[in-house]
Amino acid sequence: MSPDTTYDVMVIGAGVFGAWTAYTLTRSGARVLLVDAYGPGNSRSSSSGETRIIRMGYGADEIYTRWSHHALQLWQQFDQETGARIFHRTGVLWLGREDTQNVAATLATLSKVGVPHKTFSRAEIEKRFPQIACAEGEIAIYEPESGALMARRSVQKVVEEFQRLGGTYQIAEAETPIGNGSIASLASFSGDSFRARNYVFACGAWLAKLFPELLGRRIFPSRQEIYFFGVPSGDRNYSAGNFPTWLDTNSEMYGIPDIEGRGFKVASDIHGAAVDPDAVERVAGETLPLVRDYVRRRFPALRNAPVIESRVCQYENSSNGDFLIDRHPNFENIWLVGGGSGHGFKHGPALGEYVSRLILEGGETDHRFSLASKQTIQKRTVH
Ligand SMILES: Cc1cc2nc3c(=O)[nH]c(=O)nc-3n(C[C@H](O)[C@H](O)[C@H](O)COP(=O)(O)OP(=O)(O)OC[C@H]3O[C@@H](n4cnc5c(N)ncnc54)[C@H](O)[C@@H]3O)c2cc1C
Repeated sequence: MSPDTTYDVMVIGAGVFGAWTAYTLTRSGARVLLVDAYGPGNSRSSSSGETRIIRMGYGADEIYTRWSHHALQLWQQFDQETGARIFHRTGVLWLGREDTQNVAATLATLSKVGVPHKTFSRAEIEKRFPQIACAEGEIAIYEPESGALMARRSVQKVVEEFQRLGGTYQIAEAETPIGNGSIASLASFSGDSFRARNYVFACGAWLAKLFPELLGRRIFPSRQEIYFFGVPSGDRNYSAGNFPTWLDTNSEMYGIPDIEGRGFKVASDIHGAAVDPDAVERVAGETLPLVRDYVRRRFPALRNAPVIESRVCQYENSSNGDFLIDRHPNFENIWLVGGGSGHGFKHGPALGEYVSRLILEGGETDHRFSLASKQTIQKRTVH
């Protein structure tokens, strides 16, 4: 395309949200430009890293159960069409306590939406997965059709497919738009100017930096660590196929079995300190004592397993965990898309459809995704 091309949509940010939005718009026939400051799935983005969980259970938050259910079909369709093998159907095991409201709410929503699931007693968990040590009163919900997604690889593959379908991608760091009403072009720090009818800012944690007045106190980037433990040589008991992806609602830990020899992933979902996504040093260690102690108790045979890899990433939290999908209040042709809040990855394809529909067909965003619903004080309700 020539530098004078006017695109239907320019998408800024090639994380999972921007990549799927650009890809879906292009599939619908729109002329799309996608830019990213550092590249699709780059190590600073929230969408980087090896793997992400795709599960359907969301307590009483039916909207996310439905989105996740739909997104899983779209991820699988993408795999079939491209041969990418992004999705690993490991099953997802939710460890919880039988007397908690969240377990009852999750079971009710899964049944209502028609998501296949089973409930395991403590004895059944330990029989089926003897690698896990349970405490009195623990039960589990098992989602056999859920699992794990290859994160960075999938984002890069979606951008590749987007380009194969005729979309234009380039490295560029967009500047904050100025003025109001609507913009005809957007400048980049390297001096380019891009013309489009609509602009989608899908910039993850950077939304707070790009729009400091509007989002500086509404997007809360937090430092998160991930550890991969080395399983004993020749031991397949902790690998995908023999062990599920899991979440522990009481201790706010989660993990993914060994996939592609990366190790047994364990991480804390508790929000870490506030971070600047450009400048944060990504050297893990802060939550290692907590994670190690958990591994020792929950997976006793791995008590001496070495850490073979670690990562530091950031969540881009909204006040309560709901996504942000709304027009910029000062610009009718600018959309703000983000607030993945530590659970957004799995929804990428469903979100791409939703945003594409809003742009191409019009309509109002759901109140839960609106800017008006985003508070300046964090109180997490979506997990
Ligand atoms: C440790 C960790 C574990 C997680 N686990 C899960 C999980 O198991 N399951 C799940 O569903 N979700 C999970 N998530 C959440 C999920 O990964 C995120 O919600 C999702 O990746 C957010 O995607 P995004 O596209 O909004 O942001 P990002 O991936 O951060 O993408 C934003 C992009 O915008 C670009 N950008 C920023 N500013 C500019 C600019 N000015 N110009 C051009 N480009 C720009 C950046 O370079 C970046 O590539 C996890 C997140 C983390 C950090």
